[in-house]
Amino acid sequence: MPRLLIWHAENKRSFIWRGLRRSPYVVLVSEFMLQQTGTKHVERRLPIFLKQFPNVKALAAASPAQVLRAWQGLGYNRRALYLHRAAKDLAGMRSFPKTLDALQALPGVGQYTASAVLAFAYNKDTPVIDVNVERVLSRLWIKMPDNRATLPKRELYDFDAAILPKGHSSEWHEALMDLGSTICTRNAPKCDECPLRRSCPSASMETSRVKQPRTEGLYFGQPRRIWRGRILRIVSNSESIPSRSVSDQLRKSFKIRGRGFASFVNDLVELLISERFIARNADGNLSLANE
Ligand code: SF4
Repeated sequence: MPRLLIWHAENKRSFIWRGLRRSPYVVLVSEFMLQQTGTKHVERRLPIFLKQFPNVKALAAASPAQVLRAWQGLGYNRRALYLHRAAKDLAGMRSFPKTLDALQALPGVGQYTASAVLAFAYNKDTPVIDVNVERVLSRLWIKMPDNRATLPKRELYDFDAAILPKGHSSEWHEALMDLGSTICTRNAPKCDECPLRRSCPSASMETSRVKQPRTEGLYFGQPRRIWRGRILRIVSNSESIPSRSVSDQLRKSFKIRGRGFASFVNDLVELLISERFIARNADGNLSLANE
């Protein structure tokens, strides 16, 4: 969805950590700080912390008391101690880890922080789902019943992996975060100003605080959104794929025997085309939409 990137080029929020050279160490420190501290406060404190501990070695060589003193005012001191222990582990390594598993093996580093390091420091095509991205992607994927609803995170990781423009992970995730924070807000989304409104099924959703009951029918044992996600994943895994192969692959992978599956998949493919997630090429094959 390059429309989002075009919007972002003119509307990106400016933060001090975005202006710094984003080494994995700088991303790690800023993400630790941002876990439970507001952005304004982190803007003030990050440069001071980085001046005192400019790299992994400097942080690893400090005492826990020095690190806690530098962390004062940021709250949740346990984060500082985890960060310090992570730096000690990193100081013993030949290079900064570049995989989710290796990063998540560091003290205090969960899936979000690990994926943020990969996307923002290395621009790796890794999904990064924070609370803003979770809300925006949920609303983009299916019509949300109300402004508080979101989809399960595991589905969003798959969805994000399928649609993120390859080679633009850092910019893409910053754009989703900025859209969620300024336009697609939790309680009052400004759909009229949103660059994605034409393809968003949740545009002008119910914004009452009363949660609407959700009822989802099952199709061949799963809700439609699960099948949509599977189709999108298959299409995103190849440059160009015949429609027929999509239903064949699904039938084989999920051992579907019922009649009407191919036409069910076909309808979902048409829906995904109308929503501009995928495109039909001149030769009739399907590819990820490049709009
Ligand atoms: S159209 Fe509305 S609900 Fe959809 S992404 Fe934009 S702001 Fe959010």
